[in-house]
Amino acid sequence: MTQPCGRFAPTPSGRMHLGNILCAMLSWLSVRSKGGRYILRIEDLDAERCPRRLADQIEDDLRWFGLDWDEGGSDGGDAWYQSCRTPIYEHYEEILRGRGLLYPCFCSRAELHAAQAPHRSDGTYVYAGTCRNLTEEQIREKRKQRGAATRLIVPDETIRFTDGCQGDYEENLARDCGDFIVRRSDGVFAYQLAVVADDGEMGVTEVVRGQDLIGSTARQIYLYRLFGFPVPQFYHIPLLTAPDGRRLSKREKDLDLGVLRGVFGTPEPIIGMMAQACGLRETAQPVTLAELAEDFDWTRIPTHDIALPLEILHAASAK
Ligand code: GLU
Repeated sequence: MTQPCGRFAPTPSGRMHLGNILCAMLSWLSVRSKGGRYILRIEDLDAERCPRRLADQIEDDLRWFGLDWDEGGSDGGDAWYQSCRTPIYEHYEEILRGRGLLYPCFCSRAELHAAQAPHRSDGTYVYAGTCRNLTEEQIREKRKQRGAATRLIVPDETIRFTDGCQGDYEENLARDCGDFIVRRSDGVFAYQLAVVADDGEMGVTEVVRGQDLIGSTARQIYLYRLFGFPVPQFYHIPLLTAPDGRRLSKREKDLDLGVLRGVFGTPEPIIGMMAQACGLRETAQPVTLAELAEDFDWTRIPTHDIALPLEILHAASAK
């Protein structure tokens, strides 16, 4: 049997907040409680928004929290930074091209909006297929005006999977998503292609991430199949909210790890509060990750949003 392998794959565009920490914590607990391998991959595809110092800061915060990893991060060198993995993504792009599944798309943002395709629940739109049938001549002419993004043709197929946290989920690729971008017009690879190429290459068997990404999963399963990789088990974890139900965002500096480290001094009280908030412990008593790994069980994690314990907000805002 393959050894379980989990990962944390942060995008280092700011300091980690509690939502990121919950994701790191649950991904680590899930795989460590099975005796599996854990990796840290830095998703800095957009290198300008993601300077190395922010990735280093994430590592420092994770270590402070008591998380460890077998491979990845700065100890593993460039191979664990998506910004350094372009040749690998090009290899997978060629596989798609070889199957005749890619085409250049010249639509501008304004044109995409004007096409008025139905919007998905996550705020993105279903691509209307405008550039799918351009002739070679039209492509040559358009290339003189602007660079093209690369889109992947999707079939009229319903992809179904059972999420380890959210249960059964399905999405029809043609109806709910449309042909999607695998490489942007500036040459940067899209998250969908990079994440599947990486998780496949790295032997990841379980993907734990925020529930806001569940809408990407059908597209990614389609890519796993095209690349010939086994599809991992997905766990889309609930999002943390403030007590008033408001979503937390990276912009909310009041809850980033810089402030929380200063307020609490040690990770155990924070881990204790998070463990209680997500159903792993009855009380918010300080606890270590190793202790939580002893009886970790996905069935205790709620499927709905988790309101953050007030203590954390109070402690952070009193600072
Ligand atoms: N890099 C993504 C993020 O930080 C996570 C991607 C994933 O886990 O699939 O939101």
